[in-house]
Amino acid sequence: MILDKEHLRKNLDEIIWNIEEARIAVSEHHIVQLVAIGKYTEVENIATLYELGQRAFGENQVQQLKERMHTFEELPLEWHMIGHLQKNKINNLIDLHPVLMQSLDSLSLAEELNKKLGAKETKMNCLLQINSAREETKSGVTPEEARDIYLQIKENCPNITLKGVMTIGAHTEDTPTIQKSFESTYTIFETLKKEGASVCSMGMSGDYTLAIKCGSNLVRIGSALFK
Ligand SMILES: *Cc1c(COP(=O)(O)O)cnc(C)c1O
Repeated sequence: MILDKEHLRKNLDEIIWNIEEARIAVSEHHIVQLVAIGKYTEVENIATLYELGQRAFGENQVQQLKERMHTFEELPLEWHMIGHLQKNKINNLIDLHPVLMQSLDSLSLAEELNKKLGAKETKMNCLLQINSAREETKSGVTPEEARDIYLQIKENCPNITLKGVMTIGAHTEDTPTIQKSFESTYTIFETLKKEGASVCSMGMSGDYTLAIKCGSNLVRIGSALFK
């Protein structure tokens, strides 16, 4: 549905206000980036959000990311890839130069991506995706292996610039369970700060304030923006 500007302004203001309240409760120095996830919405709404000041956008499919980056190539937007990357789409993603690829979800994907980046003589900023709730339907490395894999990628994949971690909170209504998945991810993130990790991407429409309280500094919000 195409939403009018005042409607989108209200949604955006409400989210920014909630983020503000949650981040101040952590620390006034704790800065949180909002990435608007457009996968279920029309391009018109993305254009309106741009007019309202939003600059960072994310998509979960390479094809849709490509079309939208093309549609808005004249605008100073930053684009994030947040979905599982199939190996046969790696070259397509590389050609798009997203500002951040948040969904590096296995060592073998990292190795393949590294090789193809090398062939094109370029680099990519990535986050390691952690399957913090251990859900079979979700991709990502397990919390146990996350640190090791992070260090292996850092060591063996010179064309990948690891910036931190990403997780999707547990798929449940049970707040303590969601909180646990964020806390375990934040704990891993903390041990990786010495390795240069600076981005902890956690929190979606239903759980972003909780994620921020657990240390997230990047939230990915779709449905709450476009409701
Ligand atoms: C769809 C999606 C989001 C946004 O989800 P909403 O619940 O609509 O805010 C965030 N992160 C990832 C990885 C997604 O696939």
